[in-house]
Amino acid sequence: MPELLADHTTLRLGGPAREWVTATTEAELTAALDTTDPVLVVGGGSNLVVADEGFDGRVVEVATRGVSPDTDDPSCGGVLVKVAAGESWDDLVTLAVDSGWVGIEALAGIPGRVGATPIQNVGAYGQEVSQTIASVRVWDRTLKGVRTFANTDCSFGYRTSRFKADRGRHVVLDVTFQLTIGTLGTPVTYAELARTLGVEQGGRTPLGEVRDAVLALRRGKGMVLDPDDHDTWSAGSFFTNPVLDAAAVPDGAPAWPQADGRVKSSAAWLIEHAGFAKGHGSDRAALSGKHVLALTNRGGATTEDLLGLAREVRDGVEAAYGVRLVNEPVLVGCAL
Ligand SMILES: Cc1cc2nc3c(=O)[nH]c(=O)nc-3n(C[C@H](O)[C@H](O)[C@H](O)COP(=O)(O)OP(=O)(O)OC[C@H]3O[C@@H](n4cnc5c(N)ncnc54)[C@H](O)[C@@H]3O)c2cc1C
Repeated sequence: MPELLADHTTLRLGGPAREWVTATTEAELTAALDTTDPVLVVGGGSNLVVADEGFDGRVVEVATRGVSPDTDDPSCGGVLVKVAAGESWDDLVTLAVDSGWVGIEALAGIPGRVGATPIQNVGAYGQEVSQTIASVRVWDRTLKGVRTFANTDCSFGYRTSRFKADRGRHVVLDVTFQLTIGTLGTPVTYAELARTLGVEQGGRTPLGEVRDAVLALRRGKGMVLDPDDHDTWSAGSFFTNPVLDAAAVPDGAPAWPQADGRVKSSAAWLIEHAGFAKGHGSDRAALSGKHVLALTNRGGATTEDLLGLAREVRDGVEAAYGVRLVNEPVLVGCAL
């Protein structure tokens, strides 16, 4: 029986893989990539929308393990932690909080594996991995060799990087994080998190409190995986927040100024104000009952059902506000 992508994605969608390889060592991983067949690299499948037809090629699941902290590097003054791509991201956050490593505590509860975090520069609640990644070691499928990219060479941006832009070329082998050592989290810049923690924006609280507050906020929005809760059968936020010229931001919409002079607005605000309420959709594919930005599988959906809902929302927002939302998850074998 072929492996079904639906069994490996948090949306629980996607047809069969022609071939499936689980790589638990770096040697297995690079060997699995050495093929002329199409290759799809997967970690936890939490940012993937795969066609109902499946993937006509080799799916390579990255399951390498290893966390190596180095506190002796005098140039660092903190800890350099080298983490294999197949490690669970949330387990790494827990280890960091328990070890007094500062810088990723607000990224608790994000599903998936470490190797995928640089791809879209994972972020939440005021932190992004680009703030703590020192370097990313990859297998370059074009040059057929190992390369190491320092942070400044990764072209990190809002939910993007050189790895996302040049899709499929670089397979992340490990990521090295540069974290400081301490008991307090980084200054809390995210207003909702600051309110929850009872501090001013810019204030600091113990690492464990930040992690717990983030997990509570995320649970309230269905953003922590729970097999019994269909609101979490998603790929997280389905659309990125649009970055617009100031004049294009609709009246009343949130507007966060960006370094380039443009303004980031809120995809969730646009969706709600265009008339799509929580739970909108069918008994197969619907907006989450807790957060309009998550498109969810209610149990019996196909990928086409989900994409149909995504098109309806994207087109409705465009008709109402002239803003065309862009999908955040990676679409495989299908399009919006
Ligand atoms: C409930 C929920 C909440 C979420 N919340 C957030 C959030 O707050 N912030 C956020 O940024 N994201 C969030 N996400 C999205 C997702 O969790 C992240 O993007 C995560 O980093 C994806 O990891 P993964 O291992 O599941 O990647 P996958 O879904 O398996 O893969 C995603 C992409 O990365 C590629 N990839 C995977 N591993 C590698 C590798 N080793 N080398 C090269 N390419 C690779 C894949 O080919 C694919 O293109 C959420 C998702 C869910 C379901």
